[in-house]
Amino acid sequence: MAQEDIFKKLVAHCKEYGYVFQSSEVYDGLGAVYDYGQNGVELKNNIKKYWWDSMVLLHENVVGIDSAIFMHPTIWKASGHVDAFNDPLIDNKESKKRYRADVLIEDQRAKFEDKIEKEIKKAKKRFGDSFDEAQFRETNPRVQANQKKIEVLNERFTKALNDNDLEELKQIIVDYEIACPISGTKNWTDVRQFNLMFATEMGSTSDGAMKVYLRPETAQGIFVNYLNVQKTGRMKIPFGIAQIGKAFRNEIVARQFIFRMREFEQMEMQFFVRPGSELDWFDKWRETRIKWHRALGFGDDNYRFHEHEKLAHYANAAVDIEYRFPFGFKEVEGIHSRTDFDLSQHQEFSGKKIQYFDPELNKSYVPYVVETSIGVDRMFLQVMSAAYCEEEVEAANGKKDKRVVLKLPTVLAPTKLAVMPLVKKDGLPEKAREIINDLKFDFSCQYDEKDSIGKRYRRQDAVGTPFCVTVDHQSLEDNTVTIRYRDTMKQERVSIDQLRSLVGSQISFKDLFAKL
Ligand code: ATP
Repeated sequence: MAQEDIFKKLVAHCKEYGYVFQSSEVYDGLGAVYDYGQNGVELKNNIKKYWWDSMVLLHENVVGIDSAIFMHPTIWKASGHVDAFNDPLIDNKESKKRYRADVLIEDQRAKFEDKIEKEIKKAKKRFGDSFDEAQFRETNPRVQANQKKIEVLNERFTKALNDNDLEELKQIIVDYEIACPISGTKNWTDVRQFNLMFATEMGSTSDGAMKVYLRPETAQGIFVNYLNVQKTGRMKIPFGIAQIGKAFRNEIVARQFIFRMREFEQMEMQFFVRPGSELDWFDKWRETRIKWHRALGFGDDNYRFHEHEKLAHYANAAVDIEYRFPFGFKEVEGIHSRTDFDLSQHQEFSGKKIQYFDPELNKSYVPYVVETSIGVDRMFLQVMSAAYCEEEVEAANGKKDKRVVLKLPTVLAPTKLAVMPLVKKDGLPEKAREIINDLKFDFSCQYDEKDSIGKRYRRQDAVGTPFCVTVDHQSLEDNTVTIRYRDTMKQERVSIDQLRSLVGSQISFKDLFAKL
């Protein structure tokens, strides 16, 4: 099945099974804003727990905060967002659709990358085990030609971004004959800059309202609390401050479901270090973070690093972790070495000293910062993309059947255990409730009695519940149930007393943390 079709199905699945809904759907929706349903919120909470604990619990020198969304407007002046948090936009005159010029060019580059991937896939099939990918990349003329195209494009693109040269960005779009995906034409406007921050007013207008912004990143809430945390927590450098919270960006292009939203959530950690040691810490965090992703078991080949073409004004190193979504490799997380830019700016704009006295060096300095920044929603989409499976299975009557299953990592699944009475009588529902009442403080359980057992299994597969137990008449006699495993569909008879440890042993964050 084409990847685009899989993606469409995934989006429909998210809605059908209570994971993600379009915001304000009864009013025909609000662009690039989404709500999480009863299963979505559980998965999201589990993702956040995985991140939070891996940062704050596992690192004794990382602590968390929860800062307000509204902040003093000067913060955004100091951080550079008022003047420079822009995206280059371009309109197609025919379709009247608006695009990010840089994204159009990145999509063009992805086309060359796709061609290379296709060649490699073909060759892998042809040569089997003896295939040497590195050698093939170096010697195959078609791969080489596309690689050259990527390099030439990259060079122009990087220069245009670094020089802030909007005319050149447009010229690249013209030269590469990039067409509007809607109208198919190349009739473009000039490229313009567009600030992504949402503004609102605070206070009553008669008193003279103050223009405030909805934060476009959570990081600044950490920077302006650096001294508070360092002093009250008696933190010694190197140390980190982590935060999970909402961020808002007036994105020009609202595409790809929850990949690019106008209201989204970030999990950010700012790590404060001695000047000069930042690049070592940058390397360390880059490795720590890729391990965190890979520990979920979605396949190491599905991740890659992408070094930035253009470094943000505050950074001296930056890399993205990209995941292979159904629509291609895209950024999930950024790791940035932000130098002392933010703290120095806040020091200057606030007039307050924001420094660290280093007892070992016996001097004060503005710490350098390495940031890890990941979107909860993009992570959610990564998990769902990896988990969504359509499988051919054998039905009870021996015929071929299809099942849709969410192979979510068991620790992240919204419901761990579904308990099902075989029939709605003879004391079986009561026995099922008894099991749930005994286990509900250990993990999330769901009672399910409607429809045939087969249908109930399919329903639980589709929401990603890793374990189902069926209570039958024998259960009343010998206190045993049938447990059925989502991924293998294997069933076995176990004692009810075993359930806590059987399920509990497979849903523990501990095992995941052990891989980090
Ligand atoms: P992009 O280039 O895709 O716009 P970015 O480089 O601007 O992303 P950062 O500012 O580095 O993103 O933000 C850190 C993380 O926050 C991203 O890696 C991503 O996971 C998440 N993120 C950023 N913008 C959005 C958005 N509009 N919707 C959902 N998540 C987002």
